[in-house]
Amino acid sequence: MKIVVLKFGGTSVGSTDRIKKVSKIIISYIKKKYKVIIAASAMSGVTNDLVKKSREISNDFKSDEYDVLLSSGEQMSCALIAGRLNYLGYKSRSWLGWQIPIVTEGDFSAARIKNIHKKNIINYLKSGGIPVVAGFQGVNSDYRITTIGRGGTDASAIMLAKFFKAKKCIIYTDVDGVYTTDPNTIKKAKKIKVISYEEMLEMASLGAKVMQPHSIQDARLNRVDIDVRSSFKRSKGTLITKRKNISTNKIIRGVSFTKNDAKVTLVGVKDKPGVAASIFEPLYKNSINVDMVVQNISSNGKETDLTFTINSEDLFKTEKLVKNNKKINFRKIVVDKKVSKLSIIGVGMITTPGVTYRMFNALAKKNINIIVISTSEIKISVLLNKKDLKKAVDALHKEFKLEK
Ligand code: ADP
Ligand code: ASP
Ligand code: MG
Repeated sequence: MKIVVLKFGGTSVGSTDRIKKVSKIIISYIKKKYKVIIAASAMSGVTNDLVKKSREISNDFKSDEYDVLLSSGEQMSCALIAGRLNYLGYKSRSWLGWQIPIVTEGDFSAARIKNIHKKNIINYLKSGGIPVVAGFQGVNSDYRITTIGRGGTDASAIMLAKFFKAKKCIIYTDVDGVYTTDPNTIKKAKKIKVISYEEMLEMASLGAKVMQPHSIQDARLNRVDIDVRSSFKRSKGTLITKRKNISTNKIIRGVSFTKNDAKVTLVGVKDKPGVAASIFEPLYKNSINVDMVVQNISSNGKETDLTFTINSEDLFKTEKLVKNNKKINFRKIVVDKKVSKLSIIGVGMITTPGVTYRMFNALAKKNINIIVISTSEIKISVLLNKKDLKKAVDALHKEFKLEK
């Protein structure tokens, strides 16, 4: 069977008009003799609205019910797509995660797909039907509904492609591919024709929302090639694939940034062994992800300042945990939500000296202050004041000739 998995994101199914448009895209593949499996997101705004409603009900909404609530948006979009295909004379039905079932493991809101049962979908495809599968959701071994992280329909599509051995996995979204940086922020951003899993994973993890990071990990592990395209206009998109299938002379592939970081500084922390572990233990136990960390060298051998960044949504909880932590002593806690993390990504930096210097020099020339730095083999990240972000992205885009 020549199977293709088509994923439609929130904006692509954001209104009944849009659903009529994507139904035409789906039919174009049927006409090309593909067996089509759809992975659909909730209509744009719906999942955010459900999050808001949960907060109005309780600021401590139980995680199992939270997943039942958040997964409900996909039920609506799937039924609307199947309904439109039926109207146009095609056999189609919706499939929720538990009906297939798509089996997940791991915590609520952050579960991962372990298995997808194939029999019913295969039979349906053979009978000429178009299954419309709800993305973002699954069911765990206790028969509870789970979700797989915000933006998770990307991962649903990739796992469907894996389990059904699809010839193609196409991610239809509201931009026509992966760009050197967010094209909605930087007009000079350029479309990337082919990118490796490794670079895409870093770009996504460091803020390029176009693909969910977990989905790229799944694609890399299972060697699923991904084609990212626009559901709004016909044009060639971006292929995400193995590194050895790519030839490029670019040192840096892209610039990613986040807008929701917060910085926490503990001033005057007693400088003794184990203190950093004592600070981070309660954060880890409360699933708060600490990102960048710097500790200043103690000037008097007794006290030091320690700075770290977290997602700004976790700021309130973090402040509370730090203040209530009996194992540590410090003089003052200072928090700042007006920061952004900016990163350059590219496998070329492994073999090219001077990338760090060029990045810092380009920022210095624009008078942009760097607050924290962190690096890995294929990325360099800096923390900046949010007000400098756009200027900084522009400067780095230019420095590494990304618009060429
Ligand atoms: P969907 O609802 O289809 O899943 P998302 O909103 O999750 O779509 O992702 C698409 C958005 O990602 C684009 O509208 C764009 O603003 C943003 N984006 C951020 N960085 C990039 C990038 N490097 N390339 C393309 N889009 C990006
Ligand atoms: N509807 C979910 C979300 O908004 C999943 C997705 O869109 O991929 O996060
Ligand atoms: Mg998305």
